[in-house]
Amino acid sequence: MDFNDTPAEAEFRATVKAWIAANAGEYLQPPEKPWGLDDFVARSKAWQRKKHAAGYVGITWPKAVGGQGLTPMHQIIFGQEESRTYVPSGLYSIGLGMCIPTVFTHGSPEIAARYVPKALVGDEVWCQLFSEPVAGSDLAGIRTRAVRDGDPGSGSGTGDWIINGQKVWTSFAHKSDFGIVVCRTDFDAPKHKGLTMFIVDMKAPGVEVRGIKQMSGSSDFNEVFFTDVRVKDSHRLGAVGDGWKVALTTLMHERLAVGGKPRHAPGYQTLMTLAQGIDTEHGPAIAQADVRRTIADTYIADEGIKLTQMRALSALSRGAMPGPEQSISKVVVAKTMQDMAAFALDLSESAGLEVTPGSDLEKLQGSYLWSAGLRIAGGTDEILRNIIAERVLGLPGDLRPDKDTPFSELKPL
Ligand SMILES: Cc1cc2nc3c(=O)[nH]c(=O)nc-3n(C[C@H](O)[C@H](O)[C@H](O)COP(=O)(O)OP(=O)(O)OC[C@H]3O[C@@H](n4cnc5c(N)ncnc54)[C@H](O)[C@@H]3O)c2cc1C
Repeated sequence: MDFNDTPAEAEFRATVKAWIAANAGEYLQPPEKPWGLDDFVARSKAWQRKKHAAGYVGITWPKAVGGQGLTPMHQIIFGQEESRTYVPSGLYSIGLGMCIPTVFTHGSPEIAARYVPKALVGDEVWCQLFSEPVAGSDLAGIRTRAVRDGDPGSGSGTGDWIINGQKVWTSFAHKSDFGIVVCRTDFDAPKHKGLTMFIVDMKAPGVEVRGIKQMSGSSDFNEVFFTDVRVKDSHRLGAVGDGWKVALTTLMHERLAVGGKPRHAPGYQTLMTLAQGIDTEHGPAIAQADVRRTIADTYIADEGIKLTQMRALSALSRGAMPGPEQSISKVVVAKTMQDMAAFALDLSESAGLEVTPGSDLEKLQGSYLWSAGLRIAGGTDEILRNIIAERVLGLPGDLRPDKDTPFSELKPL
């Protein structure tokens, strides 16, 4: 393992640093007050256009689809430098991180030419329509159906696909122009084999997006209902019945994207600073055993995460792909964030501290609320533990008794 930049990586980093210093402007400092949703979207679009003009989007994508044809290390270096700033982030992570690579991997050249450039420049936002009320971890259990309207080859119908069903937890569906949707096209095949993926226009007749209010107060994800929504066969991604394989392309990108600690999330230093400023009836908080233990535990977890990620970076730098051990980072990041933030909030409450806008306590509160979702998104803790058990440790597989049964014969839960 070598954790240092190669000379070429160091040169790229220096160029990125200089570009960010010259272009990030107000985002070099934290915002004075939180942005509203529409402001966030407008700022995200403006920042994306700037990055596009400078050639810092689609960094690893093939040049043939408008990417830069560089390595994952270039992408990571840009991401590391960008994450030191306070630029708006998140609006494009699903679209550019997961949906569009699926579109240009499995769509026709005409489809890629229509959708990739507008997504890259940020004019069109994308969402991922996979989860359903009874299918999340068990994604292959989805029930949204797509039925073909005749077959134009034999002179009957339009050949369009008609989609009916419901998705849930669709991040940014309310701000999206398009989505990739996985549907069941064959109920008589086993559950992984009867699926097909499509591109869907989020403004098409029959698509209804309903916001979900989160406990944090924001509303980032949605329920999406499909009633007789028509999709052209040209907007199918991959072969009919190959939807599971196509979905795996998307999920592979998702696991890589959600592994790390969110930008500017509080760490052990935040707890240490907080504890240094609190006096309890038993003396300074920083002198108490449970406070010191939590600071040390958080530090150990943070360092472990950093080293696991550096190991993945080291693999990428050598041209290899990080393996399923990436799942370790996400399991540890989310739980550590949640445990540390809960402890810090209890400590501050017992000292009667008030949460004020922009304070460390407000950040800890945000971190506590967000970490609950992080333990679910992109694979729950339990599913990731299954992956670690099976693919890293070589333990016996989870029970999957329904894998070969026709979907129509499975009993609903
Ligand atoms: C912040 C956030 C953003 C999201 N964005 C999107 C999005 O944009 N698009 C989208 O399609 N989805 C999105 N999701 C949904 C997400 O993918 C699902 O919530 C996730 O896959 C879990 O599915 P579920 O909620 O149906 O829970 P379930 O799968 O029903 O799980 C319930 C519980 O059972 C446990 N469990 C399930 N199966 C097993 C097993 N085999 N072994 C052990 N334990 C098990 C789980 O770990 C969990 O604790 C998002 C979720 C969050 C939190």
